[in-house]
Amino acid sequence: MNALTPAAAAANRRTFAIISHPDAGKTTLTEKLLLLGGAIHLAGEVKAKGERRRARSDWMKIEQERGISVTTSVMTFERQGITYNLLDTPGHEDFSEDTYRTLTAVDSAVMVIDAARGIETQTLKLFEVCRLRDIPITTFVNKMDREARDPFEIMDEVAETLALDVTPLSWPIGMGREFLGCYDLVRDRLILMKKDGGGEIIDVTGLDDPALEKHLPAERVEALRDEAGLAKEACPPFDMESYRAGHLTPVFFGSALRNFGVAELLQGIGDNAPPPRTQSTDKREIAPGEDKVTGFVFKVQANMDPKHRDRIAFMRICSGRFNRGMKMNHIRSGKQMAIHNPILFFAEDRELADEAWPGDIIGVPNHGTLRVGDTLSESEDIRFTGIPNFAPEILRRVRLDDPMKSKHLGRALISLAEEGVTQVFKRTMGGDWIVGVVGQLQLDVLVTRVEQEYGVKISLEPAPFQTARWVYADDKATLDKLIKANTTAMAEDGDGQPVFLARNSWELNYQQEQNPKVQFSATKERA
Ligand code: GDP
Repeated sequence: MNALTPAAAAANRRTFAIISHPDAGKTTLTEKLLLLGGAIHLAGEVKAKGERRRARSDWMKIEQERGISVTTSVMTFERQGITYNLLDTPGHEDFSEDTYRTLTAVDSAVMVIDAARGIETQTLKLFEVCRLRDIPITTFVNKMDREARDPFEIMDEVAETLALDVTPLSWPIGMGREFLGCYDLVRDRLILMKKDGGGEIIDVTGLDDPALEKHLPAERVEALRDEAGLAKEACPPFDMESYRAGHLTPVFFGSALRNFGVAELLQGIGDNAPPPRTQSTDKREIAPGEDKVTGFVFKVQANMDPKHRDRIAFMRICSGRFNRGMKMNHIRSGKQMAIHNPILFFAEDRELADEAWPGDIIGVPNHGTLRVGDTLSESEDIRFTGIPNFAPEILRRVRLDDPMKSKHLGRALISLAEEGVTQVFKRTMGGDWIVGVVGQLQLDVLVTRVEQEYGVKISLEPAPFQTARWVYADDKATLDKLIKANTTAMAEDGDGQPVFLARNSWELNYQQEQNPKVQFSATKERA
């Protein structure tokens, strides 16, 4: 009998994601983290594995052609008694809503920045999503083995751009070819980079320990003492509460490629990153230590065989001890479902999960019952909140090649919207279908799947709109006034909620000023 309780299991779990701009080194860092956790044995296997998996699916040809991963995968590994669930967010510029939603299922994130480039556009976007949910961020300044910017300059940029307090937990010794390693400011250790990667650890008593001179050239020691001393003075001390509230980011320096600084980063996540959080529902807060199992779906992925319309729903366990075969209530439909074949994800494998704990992600195979945002609950009738749709950044009008198929088209678009592939809006006037996405790739997936799975050929043409806002008002008359005055800009989303389509940001601002009682929301809680 397993004596583990949900509270104890949760305390030793860290569920996190890595956010970065393409090329900053997320894939390389992921490999090194998995290597540390013993989850893979040779760096490089993450990509190889991805390729094998891709070959199994037809519609995923898109990924293959573009050499990127559409899927958000989960990697679980253990180190020193802690179970890490690393949720991968696609790192290409063509990212999608899945990227955003994945962040609703994590308790913390690692922000990887390229030491020569600092904060880049996509890092900033993803950071903003983290901020929406107060997700604490650990910063990893990568590629210190190349010509980098001055560490103070990088930290200033993080502090100013993201409005965060910044506290270095390690300090780099040199950079580029002269990068010798780091000084561990938490444990007072020298960590020197070994030729074949990794670090050699030398315990010291502090920055003024004369032993430093034995291991480093004199000018390096002097620079280290000056800089690290200044950093300690200029930066606030590490404060756990402030970090966990999302106000402070601890910073590590390293080189993922040389496998340097990665162990310290993981240690930092193990020591500081929050265990599974208490989650909000429409009725009350659910603590991970509660006995009854609850979870929510944050991503749905079409299964490998498009003919069978199988889906895998990715569910984050929020409380209780999940056992294979258990029955859970599917709150939206009011039906019970027995989960016979839950899947656990490992770097090299997927296997049936006999049990899972708060913070874990399991894959639930289904035939379309489960949608993004759904709650599964062992007993109580609750719905998790905070798994939003995000305002689309690209809008396209759908053109149907064969007008006889318009009914099929509606069904296909709504069903794919439920799965979270794209968002869909039906215009009030004229009834055109508009699809909205945050990344171009979602559009390609949509066109391919509508044709392959529903036999409907479509093309997409520019829509005269730039973005969409869900509109809410306390009283119906206020909302009706907006809708009447703007019929050409109004639409309904897949759930029938009113949406304002804006031609540009000027128009959006103007309408907001004209209708102060209407809330124009860039996110929508899923129904
Ligand atoms: P991703 O797009 O964020 O997943 O980035 P990758 O991990 O694919 O890395 C992008 C490129 O940067 C690759 O050529 C890596 O080999 C290289 N790279 C990653 N980390 C480091 C590092 O620490 N030092 C150096 N010099 N190159 C790195």
